[in-house]
Amino acid sequence: GPRVGVLALQGDVREHAALLEGLGAEVTLVRRPAELAAVDGLVIPGGESSVIDKLSRLFGMQEPIRAAIAEGMPVLGTCAGLILLADTVLDAIEGQESFGGLDVVVRRNAFGRQVESFEAELDIPALGSDPVRAAFIRGPVVESVGPSATPLAALPDGRVVAVEQGAILGLSFHPEITGETRFHQRFLDRVALRH
Ligand code: GLN
Repeated sequence: GPRVGVLALQGDVREHAALLEGLGAEVTLVRRPAELAAVDGLVIPGGESSVIDKLSRLFGMQEPIRAAIAEGMPVLGTCAGLILLADTVLDAIEGQESFGGLDVVVRRNAFGRQVESFEAELDIPALGSDPVRAAFIRGPVVESVGPSATPLAALPDGRVVAVEQGAILGLSFHPEITGETRFHQRFLDRVALRH
């Protein structure tokens, strides 16, 4: 199967790895530049974006990830992963950086403290007619989508929660915990297309 990585600095790494293996991928847990160089696509998990950012710089991973994204490597980011893929992050902690790549503005923790987590059904025509069951866990919202990116899904109130730009896919929610496999399959299809 395709060789893909899960960025394994912090967050729900195992859930993504298990889902990808279930889809037939060969999964590497990526912590070092050499591990990134050996994969053809990268998943950036949910977790705490400021921690993943800080660790990525400590491990010398920020520049290699930015370069891989710029070269067109397929990337799937969920929740904290979406924050790390956004060109602009609102309500970031002081000094927090992102890898960038998605022409969007996201706001961290946009759903507020009182509602730390909820599930919603989303219609995403690009994935077929079955609705997507989406788990939101202190997720970000996409506040604006620039001309290079395309919104894929929105909540009933119109807030955008999934975006795509070329081979980059960013989700506010966690498909890996509701058994939703279609985003990971879409990511793997992108990886296969590059070969
Ligand atoms: N609130 C987290 C952050 O800012 C994201 C939460 C998540 O990934 N479930 O990184």
